Amino acid sequence: MTILEEALALKPYMVELRNHFHSHPELALNEFNTCKYIEEKLTEIGLSFKRVSATNVIAELDSGIPGKTLLLRADIDALPIQEENDVPYKSQNPGIMHACGHDGHTASLLGAAKILSAHKNDFKGKIIFAFQAAEEIGNGARDIINSGLLDNVNRTFAIHFQSGLEAGKFAIKSGSDMASCDRLKITIHGKSSHITYPEMGADSLFVGALIASQLQTVVSRLISPVEGGLIGIGSFHSGTTYNIIPSEAVLEGTIRAFSKESRKKLADAVRKIAANIADEYGAKADVEIEDISDPLINPAETVAEVIESAKKIVPTENIITNIEKRFMADNFADFSRKAPGTYVHAGSSDGEATSFPHHNEHFDLAQDSYHYAAALAVQYALDFLTRE
Ligand SMILES: [Zn+2]
Ligand SMILES: [Zn+2]
Repeated sequence: MTILEEALALKPYMVELRNHFHSHPELALNEFNTCKYIEEKLTEIGLSFKRVSATNVIAELDSGIPGKTLLLRADIDALPIQEENDVPYKSQNPGIMHACGHDGHTASLLGAAKILSAHKNDFKGKIIFAFQAAEEIGNGARDIINSGLLDNVNRTFAIHFQSGLEAGKFAIKSGSDMASCDRLKITIHGKSSHITYPEMGADSLFVGALIASQLQTVVSRLISPVEGGLIGIGSFHSGTTYNIIPSEAVLEGTIRAFSKESRKKLADAVRKIAANIADEYGAKADVEIEDISDPLINPAETVAEVIESAKKIVPTENIITNIEKRFMADNFADFSRKAPGTYVHAGSSDGEATSFPHHNEHFDLAQDSYHYAAALAVQYALDFLTRE
């Protein structure tokens, strides 16, 4: 039997698991029942596991023969969205939904774990299965890394389902794949006064408006248009009524970049612009930039390895290597910076019902997605861990 056939034989198992996770979604850092269920399945498979912080589950499969270590990652958290699909496996938790495919990632990785357990004698070294909490809020990954778990890992690997790409196709991109993510909060402290006495106040709302518009010029002047970057402001709150100059304004947004250098350049520019504009009008700007995730860059070497394995699963024309990089972020980037690895986009569409965008209330996955994802993880693990 080929690996794909083994995975196909487990399709009903993975569909059942995925539908279970889909019916019982939990928000980032609250994945307690999800973890319990994952641990039940790991116990059935016969794998040992532990928790890293409250809701990251880490399992290990050791061949017993010294060799390299590969880490396979699945993210497990859901989103604060009310599901609008009328399906038997519809979310039973009001206002919470798996609308990004993490339910499918978790089910596929459990499928892969089951298959690999049966192949324990076919590889050297160790496989770590990381069921990561809280990807949607940029959490989880660093808890796992800070625990020391990746210190002796040679390779990392993750699959994310991709709506709009047909099930059975993989998109694997060498180099820049996804952006870094920083969360930006600018608080402007001014001074309130009657609206008719602007000279006696410091207008935080006006300063905030200037900063918001000035920030839109930064990327175009500081970053190569070919590389790209983004500063987006998503919220702006200030003021209480029509005739008071407000003493405070708060802007929140995000900075996205494709390299460490650009990321720093943009952050420095945001700080400088906010401080200068505030200063000019007698206000003060506090800039907080929270580091959520590194830029996701797939090394050419690991991409070549994964493509070689993917060719054993699907026809070469189903492996797409020229996709556009995107401004979304995934903190798998933190894993692959620590130990080189590849992020694969796996198709999860087979018609209209499974082609809604990620984070949409109608999002769904094709049932034929899981066995392809599991098969690629298994094939790559066997290829990487038998290699000299
Ligand atoms: Zn998402
Ligand atoms: Zn996601």
